[in-house]
Amino acid sequence: MAKSPEYYAQIKAKFAAERDLRLGYRPEGTRQYTSELTGSLASYAVDPYAGEQTPRDPIVDTVECLFIGGGFSALLTSARLREKGVESIRIVERGGDVGGTWYWNRYPGAACDVVAYDYLPLLDELDYVPKDHYAKGPEILAHCQAIAKKYDLYDLAVFQTTVISTVWQEEEGLWHIATDRGDAMKARFVICANGTLSKPKLAKIRGIETFQGHSFHTSRWDYDYTGDDLAKLRDKVVGIIGTGATAVQAVPQLAAAAKQLFVFQRTPSSIDVRDDWPTDPNWARKLAPGWQAKRRAKALMARELTPEQQAAQAKLSREDKIRSQENANIDYMMRIHQRIDSIVEDQSTADALKPWYMFMCKRPCFHNDYLPAFNRTNVQLVDTRGQGVNEITAQGPLFDGKQYAVDLLIYATGFEVQKTGIYNEIIGKSGLDLNEKYSTGMRTLLGIHTCGFPNLFIMGGYQASFQFNLTDMLQTQGDHIAACIAYAREHGYQTIDPTAKAEDWWVQEVIKHRGKTGRNQECTPGYYNFEGEMQRRQDGNYNGGFRQYFTHMAEVREDMAANFVFTGNASLKANI
Ligand code: NDP
Repeated sequence: MAKSPEYYAQIKAKFAAERDLRLGYRPEGTRQYTSELTGSLASYAVDPYAGEQTPRDPIVDTVECLFIGGGFSALLTSARLREKGVESIRIVERGGDVGGTWYWNRYPGAACDVVAYDYLPLLDELDYVPKDHYAKGPEILAHCQAIAKKYDLYDLAVFQTTVISTVWQEEEGLWHIATDRGDAMKARFVICANGTLSKPKLAKIRGIETFQGHSFHTSRWDYDYTGDDLAKLRDKVVGIIGTGATAVQAVPQLAAAAKQLFVFQRTPSSIDVRDDWPTDPNWARKLAPGWQAKRRAKALMARELTPEQQAAQAKLSREDKIRSQENANIDYMMRIHQRIDSIVEDQSTADALKPWYMFMCKRPCFHNDYLPAFNRTNVQLVDTRGQGVNEITAQGPLFDGKQYAVDLLIYATGFEVQKTGIYNEIIGKSGLDLNEKYSTGMRTLLGIHTCGFPNLFIMGGYQASFQFNLTDMLQTQGDHIAACIAYAREHGYQTIDPTAKAEDWWVQEVIKHRGKTGRNQECTPGYYNFEGEMQRRQDGNYNGGFRQYFTHMAEVREDMAANFVFTGNASLKANI
């Protein structure tokens, strides 16, 4: 039965009230977090997987392409560069291996919500079919390693190494790269491949450093403490702070293993069904070579509305379109509420787990075991009703005058978002610092190039399109970057730098699409909307759609001479 306008208006009013409640508690926006994990917080940044740092002499050499970061961005782009004949490729990676997100996030239950046949890239090239409909963390990490092996990327790679500065030397036409291991590397092309969510952050909570039990961030899981199968938690009281996509996957495992589990919630996630199954071997056997590329091309085309859909849309006014989208969104969220009621037995817990915001205000989650975990007698939801944990004592979190004494406290509080050069100072032409350039608003072409920083390419940063399947987006950027580098090499150009005009065009494109709806302002705070900070007009994703982004990228490449300034000195090629 159709619902009345009043029904939808009431729910929207409740969404707004919940958002205002949260904003009232945290007016400081993104500053409520810290990713400066030094001093008393230094232990939260330590890599528990790599072991002791392997001693080595500083590296002083020159390569053609240098990637800062060894996750999917670097792997996908390197594969394309190899296909174009580039031999000298170095990955510099802070972790002990390639894999990026999947190197760091080894928490129990880690898996990807994007269908594996789309998420795992280069399946045609590696002749690999994922084991399940949704890939688990270890399989994805192994796939990253397989890509690095296939394309000989381990040869020049350096691990346990953090790039601390990247400085353009105009006379040489090279980037100078300094690291925390004393290296003095040079590279002709540098690709910032440091990922979208790679620097762990902690909520600034009073007394955080006074906690006397054991604690870690989910991206630095201490299996020595928990045991590989979490068996060592059998006699432990565990607390987990945060209920985002990470916690949703880890909580069911912790619930089954720990003596007692407290889940500290500020805002609930929306949790829908996870429809997983092992890959059908009969289907896999029938896949013809090139199947993934075809699947990807088809998905890209499918994003376009059919002519009938376009005609139906054209008949609606802008207000009607927004209203019908909002109503459908509210219907979906109320179905999420009903699902909670049908699973969670205790009514007050069920109510506390209900998200009151539009779908996609926060990253949606899909899991079949998260909600049932709250029916266990050893699991308690501590709902902070939008406030968040605001005090930690030597025993554990203190909320509403109640002390929650825990042996282990796990921070599932997320990551710094889409920041270029997370550990690294980037200095371009005439000593220009990238952060200084961005201080009055980001300026890029396609989110990839930025004027005054020749031969520098940025992956996974802002001003690029948002795509739920991140590897699709990274592959698109990697293809573009490899094409630009190949173009410069083929023409004997030493440098490629976007024109100021092209950069300005793109900044305006980003701005044009960012203000289309009031959704960002209306959403409950989270990392999608800079925790409710409103003023950041161009410092976000390009919202014109992935297909449009893809098309713009191709247009830019079609007229390289108009969009880039090139300088030529082919002799350098021979020296690398
Ligand atoms: P998020 O940033 O999504 O979540 C952080 C959590 O910490 C939120 O629930 C936040 O609450 C909570 N929080 C922050 N401060 C406090 C506080 N003081 N007290 C209580 N809670 C607090 O980080 P995640 O690591 O969960 O996820 C990051 C991203 O990684 C995801 O959005 C997704 O893109 C990706 N990911 C994907 C997965 C998949 O494919 N399934 C799995 C895991 C991660 P609030 O909501 O109120 O801000």
